[in-house]
Amino acid sequence: MNEKTIALITGANKGIGYEIAAGLGALGYSVGVGARDEKRGTDAVDRLRSAGADAFLVPLNVTDDASTAAAVRLIEERAGRLNVLVNNAGIAEGWPDNPTSLDLDVVRRLVETNVIGVMRVTNAMLPLLRRSAHPRIVNQSSQVASLTFQTTPGMERGGISGGYTPTKTYLNAVTIQYAKELQGTGILINLSCPGYVATDLNGFQGTLTPAQGAVTAIRLATLPDDGPSGGLFEADGVVPW
Ligand code: NAP
Repeated sequence: MNEKTIALITGANKGIGYEIAAGLGALGYSVGVGARDEKRGTDAVDRLRSAGADAFLVPLNVTDDASTAAAVRLIEERAGRLNVLVNNAGIAEGWPDNPTSLDLDVVRRLVETNVIGVMRVTNAMLPLLRRSAHPRIVNQSSQVASLTFQTTPGMERGGISGGYTPTKTYLNAVTIQYAKELQGTGILINLSCPGYVATDLNGFQGTLTPAQGAVTAIRLATLPDDGPSGGLFEADGVVPW
């Protein structure tokens, strides 16, 4: 059995997720690279290993029950537990997406990945997380999801969105509920807002590098036992709900 701190990062084959894996790998964690495409995942694992990280592939499509169950079995056999889960995988299909004209099938796919995918993987991994010391869960949110920002003139981020943005607001809301249910278990669960990061998700229009976008998730993945739970954070501190 692997005695190291074991982390799983979903959607870690590229973008911010890859940099979260690189950052935790540099801290000495054994990093499971969640990837729905084995080739893309294997390439990422190779790059992380070349940089000195203890990385391993976890084939994982977060919208698929069987794939998620297989990922649980893989980590169980490898380590018997999971210390850190970073729910990073996400899609922004159709964005920017005015609610009056948006394809409702796109909404279903956004919810399936950005909300239900997080809940599916979290619930499936919880037994492994409960077996570890200092378990941490990080859900990848966004500053655009803040209702305060959306409703305060001058603070809006990202324009009108009926699809992508509300999925992250739902994720915020459900993460609060997880934090309440898991209170007292030692599991800390928080939300990370990476900022506007240049990745495939936005056609590389973002102004931050993926490594800069990974900073908050890495901090939340490595919180001390007296750290917060149920919070919404960015690099500079707390984000208003
Ligand atoms: P990205 O480069 O497009 O990476 C997204 C990752 O998620 C990819 O690895 C992708 O895999 C994976 N993914 C998508 N659907 C999946 C599924 N069903 N199962 C497993 N993996 C899946 O985007 P990113 O910018 O790094 O985004 C990472 C997270 O940060 C997302 O949750 C996003 O909403 C959030 N975020 C990003 C920004 C930003 O400015 N970029 C801002 C706020 C929040 P494939 O390679 O196979 O597609």
